[in-house]
Order: sequence, then C-alpha cells, then structure tokens
Amino acid sequence: MHRRRFLQGAAGSGLAATLAGCASAPQDISSHMPLSTAELPLGLPTLAPINAYADRIISTNVCTRPFRATGPRIEAETSGSKTIIHNYGHGGSGWSLSWGTAALAESLIKADKQKPIAVVGCGAVGLTTAIQCQRAGYQVTIYAKEQPPYVRSSYATGIWSPDSRIVTLEHAQPFAERWQWMARLSYLRFQTLLGLAGNPVEWTTMFRLADKPFDDHGGHNIPGEPAYPDYRKQLLSDLNPKARDVPPALNPFATPYVRQFPLLMFNISAYSQYLLALFYRSGGKIIDRTLTSAADFAQFDESVIVNCTGYGAKALLNDESIIPVRGQTCKLMPQPEVKYGLQYFDQHTSVYPRRDGLLVQAGAEGDFNNPVANVNPQESIAAVEQLARIMATMKS
Ligand SMILES: Cc1cc2nc3c(=O)[nH]c(=O)nc-3n(C[C@H](O)[C@H](O)[C@H](O)COP(=O)(O)OP(=O)(O)OC[C@H]3O[C@@H](n4cnc5c(N)ncnc54)[C@H](O)[C@@H]3O)c2cc1C
Repeated sequence: MHRRRFLQGAAGSGLAATLAGCASAPQDISSHMPLSTAELPLGLPTLAPINAYADRIISTNVCTRPFRATGPRIEAETSGSKTIIHNYGHGGSGWSLSWGTAALAESLIKADKQKPIAVVGCGAVGLTTAIQCQRAGYQVTIYAKEQPPYVRSSYATGIWSPDSRIVTLEHAQPFAERWQWMARLSYLRFQTLLGLAGNPVEWTTMFRLADKPFDDHGGHNIPGEPAYPDYRKQLLSDLNPKARDVPPALNPFATPYVRQFPLLMFNISAYSQYLLALFYRSGGKIIDRTLTSAADFAQFDESVIVNCTGYGAKALLNDESIIPVRGQTCKLMPQPEVKYGLQYFDQHTSVYPRRDGLLVQAGAEGDFNNPVANVNPQESIAAVEQLARIMATMKS
C-alpha cells in the first residue's frame, strides 16, 4: 500500500460534503491552542488499584469477530419479490461503527415508508439499524435467534475501536471513504449518548504501556493476522482529544513508555438495554425466529429485509468471505472506584473499567481464522495474573 496515495484518495473524496448534511462536525481546535498545549501532560486520575485476582473472575466469554478482508457487506440485493439489504461483517468494529453502518443500510431502502420492514438480527448492528429505520419513518420488526444479553455483541470489549479488524491493508483504499463516513457519524452520535442514566456510553482514561518506544509498535495484532490500515491515525487525526506521553517523572508504571489517552467506552449491558428500550418505545416488535438458509427470506411478510446477522451470515448465506477472529474476555467483579484502563499489548493484556465488571481481554496466537468458541480459562487467568504484576509495581 502506498500510504501517500491512500491518503490522497480519501482526502479528495466527496466525504466532507456527504457528512455535512449529517450533524455538526467535530472541530480541529489545535490551531486555536497555544503551541505547546498538546505536548503538556494531563493530570493523572487517582489510580485505585485493580483487584486482579483470578477468584474475582465472574464470567468468561468467547466469541468470533465477523471479519471480511474487503470490509463489511453493506449492499442491496433483489431476490424474487424481496429486497434484502445486507449489513454484516464488521470485524472488531461493530459497536463502534454501528450508527454509521445503520445509516448507510437505511439509505439503501427505497421502499414506501407506509410499508413495514424487517430487520434480521438483534446485535449491535441489527438494533442500531432498526432504530435508524424507525427514525426514518419505517415501522420495524426485528426477527432474531438471540437477543441481548445472549448475542455475540454482548461479549465484546466495548470500546471505540472503529478500525479494528475492519478491512485488510490490501483493500483499505476503496473502503476508506465509506469507513470514514461511518466512523465520523458514529462518533458524533456517541457524544449525544453521554451522561444518560446508567452511563451506556462514557469517556474513560486509558494508559498504554510499552516496553519499546511507541513508534516501533505493531499495535495489538495477533501473530498470523494480515496487516490492517491505521485508518484512525490517517483519517480521524483531527478528532479531539489527543493522546499524550506520560513524562518519566509522572509515570506510575514499571514500563518505560506510557501513553495516556481518553477512550470512548460502551457499558454494553446498559447500552443494549438503552437501545432495546428505545426500539420498543418507538413501537418496535421483536420476534424469535431462526433462519436456516437464504430461501427463508421469501417467507417474510415484509418486502424489505435488512440482514444484520453478523457472524451468523457465514452459515446462513454460505458466505465464505467471513473469517472468524476469536476473542476471549473475562470480567472481574465491578470496582466503581477504578476509573482508568490499561493496554499492555506487548503482553497481550488489556483491562477496561466497565461498570458491569472490569473487562479483561487476552489475545492469543491462533485466534485469527479460528471458529472455535470454546472458553480457555487459563488464557483469562494468565491475563489477570499479568494485570496483577502491573498492579504490584504500580506507584500510588
Ligand atoms: C472479543 C471481542 C471483542 C470485541 N470488542 C469490540 C469493541 O470493543 N468495539 C467494537 O466496536 N467491536 C468489538 N467487537 C466486534 C463486535 O462485537 C462485532 O463487530 C459486533 O458484535 C457485530 O455485531 P452484529 O450485530 O453484526 O452481530 P451479532 O451480535 O452476532 O448479532 C447477530 C444477530 O443475528 C442473529 N442471527 C444470526 N444468525 C441468524 C439466523 N440464522 N437466524 C436468525 N437470527 C440470526 C443473532 O441471533 C443476533 O441477534 C469485538 C468482538 C469480539 C469477539
């Protein structure tokens, strides 16, 4: 990939004009700040110790990210008398891009607003798409095999990660404009969901720990994965706030390199409930239904069906372009006093201060193209032990 060509392609697109109609754009305020401000350290929050003990693990979950090398499938297809809008394959970014992908899918519906539509799937993408369609004036019924908290989306980490396993570097350029549109729209929507009861969405403070200078880093890829574009750095660098390196004198951790940055976090239990309530409040219905093949779309009363089946689309449509990327997380008992998270990618360990339990993520070799969704308790215990080592050396 020629980085310069890639950037030029995205910058010269009609993206700005398209987004202008959506909402007020976040401003790049760097030119209004005194020159040195972005270099100054942020105040450190009080770092309450995390009780990183394996006997405080309250749940462990595995699920597979629905990754497609070319990016998610968001397109309309005609099948007999039905129009099927596909909206699946969002890799490790389904929550983050949800509002943008919902808006794109909804824009593909050309039906009369008097006619009800069906959304198949009740995960992050299905629920958000259904709400987006309601807002556009459609009467919507969701059909799904599972609902939250038993959908795969419920097992995600729950952070703003819009370019996580969303497309390969090889296919990055043609998808860049679409991605940027979805990411910016979603980012703006999330800012409208702050401060709500139960904190479905909130900003938290993160520390990224590293053994080597950050420029030498390959991110959090698991060995054996393809290269991915760094879209966020390349296309969203104007979004504030920025990351700052923690100066050695203030560094409370044992690693020589520490970067502090704010991160949008989704408290998935509260956020799913929020979305469900919103959907029901607008007259939505949810019906249990399992589709066994694409032919089942013909059985629907609705003539427009939005297919948001996530990883389920692989079996439903025999879509071999979906590659499973396994991910295991566990939750430690909630600690409301912990208001920061850690990422230590050198050791494949991260923790996020979710309200429904401190979310510990472990990455493992062999997770890419791995459909096996078996819990490996040792993997999570090892991640918690790694966290315990960080806590043992953390200065108060
Ligand atoms: C470990 C891990 C961590 C992650 N962390 C993040 C993160 O921090 N941020 C982020 O943005 N993303 C994250 N992701 C990615 C994110 O979870 C996915 O992109 C997202 O869940 C996809 O949502 P979805 O609605 O498409 O799929 P799903 O949640 O799988 O929902 C699919 C829906 O379709 C239904 N369905 C499927 N097949 C059928 C069928 N045949 N008949 C009827 N119904 C069917 C299901 O029952 C369900 O209701 C993570 C993923 C993993 C595995």
